[in-house]
Order: sequence, then C-alpha cells, then structure tokens
Amino acid sequence: MPDYYLSYGLIILGIIITGLASAQLHSTFSKYSKIPNARGLMGLDVARMMLEQAGINDVEICPIGGQLTDHYSPREKKLRLSESVYDKTSLAAVGVAAHECGHAIQHKEGYGPLKLRSVSVPLANIGSWLSWPLIVIGIGFDFMGLAEVGVFLFSFVVLFEVITLPVEFNASKRALTALETGGYLSSEELKGSRKVLTAAAMTYVAALLSTILQLLRLLLIVSGRRRRN
Ligand SMILES: [Zn+2]
Repeated sequence: MPDYYLSYGLIILGIIITGLASAQLHSTFSKYSKIPNARGLMGLDVARMMLEQAGINDVEICPIGGQLTDHYSPREKKLRLSESVYDKTSLAAVGVAAHECGHAIQHKEGYGPLKLRSVSVPLANIGSWLSWPLIVIGIGFDFMGLAEVGVFLFSFVVLFEVITLPVEFNASKRALTALETGGYLSSEELKGSRKVLTAAAMTYVAALLSTILQLLRLLLIVSGRRRRN
C-alpha cells in the first residue's frame, strides 16, 4: 500500500513542478510583453539582423499562431515566431526571437548537443509510446522481462530531456550575447529579456524532473511486482 501512495505522489509532484514552471513562464512573459524596447525593434527585425550577422541567409522567418509556439525547424530551415513575438517590440518578443535564432546558429555551426538531440528524437518517441503498453502487458501476463524492457525504453525519454538542456541554455546564452553586443537592447532592457529566457529554460528543467519522477514511478511499480512474485 505505501508503494501505491508513493507512486501517485511522484506523479502529483511532477505535475506541481511543471505547473509552477509553466505559470512562472506565462507571468514573466506577460509582464515583459508589455514593455517595449527603446529602439522599437520587432521580433522579426531582431531575427533578420541576427541571422544576417551570423551569415545565415537560407532560413525563412515566418509567423505562427498561438502563444509560446516559437521554434526553429532545422529540417525545413524555418524560424517560426508567434503572434506576440513576430511583429511585437516587447522585451519578451526580442528575447524569444533571439533565442530561436540561437538555435538556427547552433544548426549552422553543427553544435554537438543539437545533433545529438535530433538523433535521439525517434528513440524518445519509441520510448514514450511503447513503454506503457510493454509494462502493462508485462505485468498483466506476468512476463516481467517485458515490463523491464518498457522501463528501459522510457529512460530514452529522460535521456532526450537531458540532452535538451544544453541545447536550450546555449541558445539563450547566444541570444543574450547577441542582444548585448549587437546593441539591440540597453543593459537595463537586457535584464527583462534575460528573465523571460530564464523562465523558459526552467520549464525544460521542470519537464526533466517530472520525467525522472515518472521513471522512478515505473521502477517502483515493476520492482514492487517482482518482489510480490
Ligand atoms: Zn529553444
């Protein structure tokens, strides 16, 4: 019985951690979305200039619907900026636009962790899709080896999220350096953009912690079942 409570406790803890990080990002983003930069630069302007500065001229910058949906697609070579970033001049907008450019620059430079993350995507997908069915079938039919394979596959999801951290932190570091050295923002303005990017990075840390807790839960379930056998 204590295992049962612990198992659900881990899930609830994971939900709380990711919920807090997400709430913090939304409130920080909302706060700095209301503060325009003195030069009146839009997210699109910053992205264009940063890419040009980096010698990248084959990446298309396009708008995308939704909030915080901004991303760089290495496969399509498209940098997609959301409604509150693309044509907005806020400190949040330029921070996010510069961060996405950071990913485009990582791609151009062949940044190791980005390459590693790309190759680990299919493994992580297999892990997240196949782990639960294998564990359920393994436990249901008392074939614990299968359940253990399921837990092993889930660890690929953890691995993917570990690799994601340096990719995200490095993109933000590149963004803030470019915003500062390029003279896009004053040092006071830079603090606002930094807070937005730090809050965004924390959501990746929270996601990793939550996935580790899920892995612990799976280990608990499978090892508990082994003990009872
Ligand atoms: Zn990113």
